[in-house]
Amino acid sequence: MSGERWRYIVINYHPLTQSPITPHLMNQSGKLIIFSAPSGAGKTTIVHHLLSKFNNLEFSVSATTRRPRGDEQQGKDYYFISQTEFLHRIAQKEFVEFEEVYSGTFYGTLRGEIERIWNNGKHVIFDIDVVGGLHLKRKYAEKALAIFVQPPSLEVLIERLSGRGTDTEDKLSERYAKAEKELDYAPQFDVILKNYELDIACKEAETLVANFIGL
Ligand code: ADP
Ligand code: 5GP
Repeated sequence: MSGERWRYIVINYHPLTQSPITPHLMNQSGKLIIFSAPSGAGKTTIVHHLLSKFNNLEFSVSATTRRPRGDEQQGKDYYFISQTEFLHRIAQKEFVEFEEVYSGTFYGTLRGEIERIWNNGKHVIFDIDVVGGLHLKRKYAEKALAIFVQPPSLEVLIERLSGRGTDTEDKLSERYAKAEKELDYAPQFDVILKNYELDIACKEAETLVANFIGL
């Protein structure tokens, strides 16, 4: 740890409990890599692939009021919290951005989560909805690369979403209804990444990330 990147000694706080972790040297050059798209486009799959390829990336764990799905784990996939707690954290201004992505279900990025990852000397990678993704891009400008994951068509998106087998019929309908509008946001992103063939999309994502973080 030497050179210009490391400037200030800071205490790292856990984003949810606020308990101090270990003192670290502040990373001045941390970046943000944002993956956005409608549910079912393949963001999570591509983000997991990138995390397995680059050891200087760390996933931004969002807070949400939805319940865990499948084998999702607290603090790994999300910080699962109650609506009361979520609203309290909004009032405390702890979110860099948050959205009521689906009616009655909130999702948000905690400021402390980004700081924790940068203080660990890593770049932050996000899996976040299109509105939240554009929010972060506007806030962090050239420190952020905003990538829109585009499925071949709305029909294929719907097939992928139902094929994933993790959502109830109600949840699926809610996600389909939102998807069409979300596809219209694509031109506002830095890059549109076509996820037609998964292998090709993963390779293209690797190249985009490597160029952006300067590998
Ligand atoms: P998101 O995180 O955008 O909601 P996921 O990564 O969960 O999407 O992908 C939705 C489903 O589609 C998963 O079952 C995943 O395995 C599958 N999938 C992702 N990309 C492709 C692809 N290129 N071709 C076929 N299936 C895919
Ligand atoms: P899911 O319930 O499928 O995990 O996520 C639903 C949607 O919420 C996805 O589009 C996901 O990317 C988005 N999402 C996850 N975390 C956040 C967040 O912190 N902020 C915003 N705005 N959206 C998020």
